[in-house]
Amino acid sequence: MPPIHEAARIGKPVQIITTTDNHSFELNHEALKKLLLNEDVRHKNVCVVSVAGAFRKGKSFLLDFMLRYLNKQGSKDWLGPEDQPLAGFSWRGGTERETTGIWAWSKVFLCPGPDGEEVAVILMDTQGAFDSGSTVEECAKMFALSTMNSSHQVLNLSQNIQEDDLQHLQLFTEYGRLAMEEESSEAKPFQSLMILVRDWSYHYEYDYGGSGGSKFLDKRLNVKRTRHRDLQDVRRHITSCFKRLGCFLMPHPGLAVANDQDFDGRLADISKDFKTYLQELAPLLLSKENLIVKEINGTKVTCQALLEYFKAYITIYKGDVLPEPKTILQATAEANNLAAVASALDKYTKDMEQVCGGDKPYLSLDELKKKHNQVEEAAINQFRKVRKMGGRQYSQQYEEKLLAQMKTYEQQYIKHNDNKKPFNMQTILPTYITPLVI
Ligand code: GDP
Ligand code: MG
Repeated sequence: MPPIHEAARIGKPVQIITTTDNHSFELNHEALKKLLLNEDVRHKNVCVVSVAGAFRKGKSFLLDFMLRYLNKQGSKDWLGPEDQPLAGFSWRGGTERETTGIWAWSKVFLCPGPDGEEVAVILMDTQGAFDSGSTVEECAKMFALSTMNSSHQVLNLSQNIQEDDLQHLQLFTEYGRLAMEEESSEAKPFQSLMILVRDWSYHYEYDYGGSGGSKFLDKRLNVKRTRHRDLQDVRRHITSCFKRLGCFLMPHPGLAVANDQDFDGRLADISKDFKTYLQELAPLLLSKENLIVKEINGTKVTCQALLEYFKAYITIYKGDVLPEPKTILQATAEANNLAAVASALDKYTKDMEQVCGGDKPYLSLDELKKKHNQVEEAAINQFRKVRKMGGRQYSQQYEEKLLAQMKTYEQQYIKHNDNKKPFNMQTILPTYITPLVI
């Protein structure tokens, strides 16, 4: 029997976004629902860590170490024993790995977040042909999709930051500017971008790790370095789009990792430097203090709400051309509102279950209606309180949808309640028993 690897026992990669032949995207609805609407996690705030980049640059390899970190909840020995093969996201062999798309680990990790509250952590693997000129647009879209749906985006690069790596970020920069013009919006639309440079070989110029990385990034983003106007704009805007922007310089993992066909991921074959910096990198992304709850427009996003964002964003990236920044803004506003409706409806049904759920006694119609009105009002108040993009008038139509849905539910509750009504004695008692008339 094949050995069961530690990570393989507790989950598997599931493809949540696939690319079609004509460079369009499809959402794997069922897989995503299974992941995000699971009762254990659906109402938890979500932290999505994505690693994005070209094929064969060690993304999956890195993600497997992140799985180890999460499985061990960051305990001192999280890196594991020296002779244990690495498992999890497929990181070698086979040709299928060269498929573009977004994968998520099927197990959602519940971890204590920065303020002690439990956070649902999702790992994502975003894979595209980032280095092939012919599909720049597909790549930009893929990268955009995973950035918009994640809270920690890691852009995985090999050896250096090139000009076209920065161009992948261009799509956001204009959207970011528009989003910031929104009255109700937070200053910066995205949360964290870490540029991860693998096989960094100039450590005598810039040291490995986070601090060397941020000095290096400062130099690369220096606007004066390029005379190309577009790139100057991209540089200027990148910094204004992400609340946290960092760079991490990773040492080479050793020749066994890069070249040996039989390498199975065991630590014993990995360079000491690489292991040292893995231990710096993983907590930077996943430790309690550094987990970032996904926020859109200043509102924390739950797993359930994230589903709405995935659905909204996929539609705008489906076409042939890159979406206009305005379209992205519109989709975000729509998803904001839909997520607020879903969450208000959840509150409504939860509260109504307390009033007249299956195990609750029969209520008179008047009593039920009175309670319903209170619960309905509370749900509407919750909806109104959530910050939503698109302005008041835009969200009015969603408030109406919410109201209509609650009215439908009310009728169902009335019917259920009616069924609980004690039977009329006349109809159930045998005729030979004369009902007592007082
Ligand atoms: P992915 O396609 O980006 O997910 O890349 P994989 O994780 O599947 O790794 C591709 C190959 O690169 C494997 O043979 C790994 O052993 C190797 N690899 C992993 N990390 C690194 C790294 O940091 N540097 C180098 N040079 N190779 C790596
Ligand atoms: Mg991979």
